[in-house]
Amino acid sequence: MEGLRVLELYSGIGGMHYAVQESGIPAQVVAAIDINPTANQIYKHNFPDTDLWNKTIEGISLDDFNKLPFDMILMSPPCQPFTRIGLQGDIADPRTKSFLYILDLLPRLCRRPRFILLENVKGFESSSARERLVKTLMECGYTFQEIMVSPTSVGIPNSRLRYFLIAKLSTDIDSTWSSKMLDAFPLPAESESPEQRTSSRPLRPATGQPEEDPRGGVLYKQETAVEVQRKRSQNNDLSVRQIGDFLQPQTEVNAENYLLPPKTLLRYALLLDIVQPTCRSYGRYVEGTGSVLQCCTETEMEDVFRGLDQLSEDEKLQKLLKLKLRYFTPREVANLMGFPQSFSFPEQVSTKQRYRVLGNSLHVGVVARLLQLLLS
Ligand code: SAH
Repeated sequence: MEGLRVLELYSGIGGMHYAVQESGIPAQVVAAIDINPTANQIYKHNFPDTDLWNKTIEGISLDDFNKLPFDMILMSPPCQPFTRIGLQGDIADPRTKSFLYILDLLPRLCRRPRFILLENVKGFESSSARERLVKTLMECGYTFQEIMVSPTSVGIPNSRLRYFLIAKLSTDIDSTWSSKMLDAFPLPAESESPEQRTSSRPLRPATGQPEEDPRGGVLYKQETAVEVQRKRSQNNDLSVRQIGDFLQPQTEVNAENYLLPPKTLLRYALLLDIVQPTCRSYGRYVEGTGSVLQCCTETEMEDVFRGLDQLSEDEKLQKLLKLKLRYFTPREVANLMGFPQSFSFPEQVSTKQRYRVLGNSLHVGVVARLLQLLLS
């Protein structure tokens, strides 16, 4: 069978490309487009044979897109305009310009792609950009389905709730899509109710989870009782794998390089999300900040934190150091994002850059399953 021709927009480090490979669907990425030089360097390193365009999307003409035959568009438009931490500039944000340009092009393409998959942050579902997307898809004759998914719903201990939309060129509404999606992404303990998770109509605004006062109900750390309970229930959810499965062998990690420096320990001790290899949750609390790993598991966390604020800085530090807290390595983060072992970074890319591009990327396994659903 002739493979599908895929256009990968906002390709970053190629999360979508890996998802296509993992899905097993016969397909070929005919062009990948991104303007970030670091991301492009990494993409090229891993996919040397893919045609990678180092261009702004809005700088590419309709003619050029028409010359490029493709059956599927995969895209993760910039998410900053939609994050709750950002200013939520939405369609007024200059970073949304390229996405609006794509929406403008779609009806004018001489051959519309049969399939589209889009990924974005939580927050996109209630944006005007999403409204325009949905309107355009309907006008162009697509059937679509939206869902909020976190990798935890496929057994990966990574809490990263994201918005996904899959669309196919067809006016037949596939009434089985919604239930197939819920089967593919069984509900994790942390998630919303099924009705809030999928929709072929507008998803309700992101009011699914009540906001908690982060200062309320302080236990020995600055976590609310609700958060602690949620974490506990996730750690008991045996359908999710343990973090230990995603760590590099100790001999491979130069732990000294990843230990939290004293300054960070003292400043952020109470805010850190500390996990052990037996835990089943990563990255829960502050979006954009990963959890840190407690390497010395013999030390009881409660012993360290109880009465900590009454100690001198020096005593505090001595206690905190006992936990041997380190950051996850970029390789470990890549593992938690579902990147295959064959994925690697070119040597010249700094550790900081590695974390940054991984933070922009997506969970490969989640997208692979969505692709299978889209083509089923
Ligand atoms: N899915 C990607 C990450 C997408 S993040 C991955 O797996 O890594 C969004 C990406 O869009 C960033 O890499 C950014 O450089 C790129 N981008 C943002 N605005 C763009 C524009 N106008 N034209 C092309 N690329 C753009």
